[in-house]
Amino acid sequence: MGSRELAAVRADFPLLGRTVRGGKPLVYLDSAATSQKPNVVLEAEVDFYEQRNAAVHRGAHQLAEEATEAFEDARAAVASFVGADVDEIVWTSGATAAINLVTYALSNATAGRGGAAAERFRLAPGDEIVVTEAEHHANLVPWQELCARTGATLRWFGVTDDGRLDVSDVDAVITDRTRVVAFGHVSNVTGAVAPVAEIVAAARRVGALTVLDACQSVPHLPVDLHALGVDLAAFSAHKMLGPTGVGALYGRRELLEAMPPVTTGGSMVEVVTMTDTTYMPPPQRFEAGTQMVAQAVGMGVAAQWLDELGMDRVAAHERELAAELLRITEIPGVRVLGPTDPTDRIAVVSFVVDGVHAHDVNQVLDDQGIAIRVGHHCAQPLHRRFGLAATARASASVYTGVEEIVAFREALAGVRAFFGEE
Ligand code: PMP
Repeated sequence: MGSRELAAVRADFPLLGRTVRGGKPLVYLDSAATSQKPNVVLEAEVDFYEQRNAAVHRGAHQLAEEATEAFEDARAAVASFVGADVDEIVWTSGATAAINLVTYALSNATAGRGGAAAERFRLAPGDEIVVTEAEHHANLVPWQELCARTGATLRWFGVTDDGRLDVSDVDAVITDRTRVVAFGHVSNVTGAVAPVAEIVAAARRVGALTVLDACQSVPHLPVDLHALGVDLAAFSAHKMLGPTGVGALYGRRELLEAMPPVTTGGSMVEVVTMTDTTYMPPPQRFEAGTQMVAQAVGMGVAAQWLDELGMDRVAAHERELAAELLRITEIPGVRVLGPTDPTDRIAVVSFVVDGVHAHDVNQVLDDQGIAIRVGHHCAQPLHRRFGLAATARASASVYTGVEEIVAFREALAGVRAFFGEE
């Protein structure tokens, strides 16, 4: 992206114009945690409340019709953005909720719910669920819990020394016993992109379900879920320029049709008697109760905004940012976790500064208006793999400029001297 184009993009994000820490311009390098929002998203939410607010799918008055249309148009925009059909997108409160929905649907199937159609989701002792050592806790703990509820066993792919998934033994990990393979598309720690095709092919060979945590890919790379061939996928609006409180579960239509519901109540039923209930088809079957309508509308607008900019251009811009971020390896004492080659990774860089605790690195940068993140980034096993309790992480998004990364590098270069380590 040229500098004029980037300036136009940045002008759309009001928050980027503010100052912090006594008048310093904000350098926001924490987009992997949550992204900032363009005006169109903020306005879409306000407009919804000012002009269209009503209960969706219920009332027959004009406002209800308009609200329903806005809500369903948003679903269509999100579906088209990720290469899915509109009825393959279930609104959730975020990726965490989407992954939990899947695990509880499998539990319900295991408990006998869902009839013959749900047979394929039933788990038993001896069955295996495969994850990876690089997972965000959101794509690990729900599977641990599912194993505890069903007697299935958790297995995982390890991580190589350069922070990529070790799939050298793919057919030893994914076997006839494997029923589910759940993995992240892009690591929120190392930025590494998973070999999706290879994992999906191995899972298909044994008839296992694939569940993709697409939280860190959908905002940064062109993602076509049909082309990737995964069965289910989860992502959050707030990381892709949309509001908090909304996200999506993608599911191949015939799978969602066979999956028993998890949350039950109003809006997801067909016929209710005092003893029995029949359920609506997906996606409504998984959307009990009043939905987060204004936020969903905002997510649809965010998807359209990114679509109009073009995800190929977004990815190209962020590749340049990744290369700029990785230049911190030129600073003595700075080590990066994960691939140091900017190809096949996104602009999320976790690092350690020898002799300086990550929280101290953060403090020096924060004093200069530079917002990064420190901690285990909800990936304790991956940090343990590298013998670390915490790292610092700088992450970019479509609105990040190279000058911001230069400012970050310069500030980081002074950190060791500040703590007397040079
Ligand atoms: N997976 C990954 C890779 C993430 O980065 C995150 C957010 N940090 C999540 C899952 C969870 O997303 P949310 O908190 O929006 O549910």
